[in-house]
Amino acid sequence: MKECLETNWISSRGRFLPQFESQFADYIGVRHGVATTSGTTALHLALAASEIGPGDEVLVPAFTMIASVLPILYQGATPVLVEAEPETWNLDTDRLQERITPRTRAILPVHIYGHPVDMRPVLELAADHGLQVIEDAAEAHGAEYRGERVGGMGDVGCFSFYANKIITTGEGGMLVTDNADLAQRAKRLKDLAFLPERRFLHRELGYNYRMTNLQAAIGLAQLERADAYVAARRRNAARYRAALAEVPGLTLPVEKSWAKNVYWMYTILIEEEPYGEDRVAVAERLQERGIETRPTFLPMHRQPALLERGLFEGEKYPVADALGETGLNLPSGSNLTGKEIDYVCDALRASPG
Ligand SMILES: *Cc1c(COP(=O)(O)O)cnc(C)c1O
Repeated sequence: MKECLETNWISSRGRFLPQFESQFADYIGVRHGVATTSGTTALHLALAASEIGPGDEVLVPAFTMIASVLPILYQGATPVLVEAEPETWNLDTDRLQERITPRTRAILPVHIYGHPVDMRPVLELAADHGLQVIEDAAEAHGAEYRGERVGGMGDVGCFSFYANKIITTGEGGMLVTDNADLAQRAKRLKDLAFLPERRFLHRELGYNYRMTNLQAAIGLAQLERADAYVAARRRNAARYRAALAEVPGLTLPVEKSWAKNVYWMYTILIEEEPYGEDRVAVAERLQERGIETRPTFLPMHRQPALLERGLFEGEKYPVADALGETGLNLPSGSNLTGKEIDYVCDALRASPG
């Protein structure tokens, strides 16, 4: 960062950008990285570079953050929701087939809270139906599916480097892919679709989604510590599990035999009976002890901004609803100490009233 400031290379030109793109792509195990301003814009670029637009349908989980869905709408395409699976909370791969129509163009699986999606059935179904797979890996840097890093398994993967993600550049994102043409299109679109042959001649509508050299410098430093951050999250998760496994009414995050979960969020589900309190009361009680929490995502079919557009009318996703209503993200940062986790667990184990 000091080098950027001392040499004035503070914009989206500079040596750290290509370095960050190639090193992050290496980390995921793919050939190309295209740095962007956020995870949301990485997803938008992935859809735009895949030429997904009006009339096209994209399958996306009902239980996710709205940033997975907005870029589909930016492209004028239609999000089609897939019910959540109750164990990993990811999209239920048994429910994918029934959502495919002649208009389906892509599947957008989201590796929720750091647990990988069961990718094999997703990729098989996509191959059978000629669909694009765009992974939303914004919460899953370093997570693995059967030994492979997520984000590198579909046609294109998208990451966020927002401040609370596993590695961060403050704000920022990256699209990764093995497809050189797609990477090239994404690079052009993110830079206002300038043409190399004639400056200021534009044949396409582009965007300014350029990451800065300063952010890339932070990203490179973060990447050096990625394995340590992931190890810390997993250590923290093990400590939470050991302390909370026997508490009646609490459901803890799982790690399937084929998965390496990076526990972006350590999220628990709280059943009022037998736990003794509902999610809201627990959050308030923890807040009184200085412990900040977050509710789980409000599913997409509950979002007024989406319902107003006539989407998801009358559709029911009871599993996604239950996750959205009973879940609480506990403190999950890589810097948490064992003592801090014990303090949170003591509060959760203390009899509610
Ligand atoms: C954080 C996040 C995004 C968006 O990333 P930003 O960098 O905040 O735009 C997209 N999808 C999921 C699942 C996320 O958690």
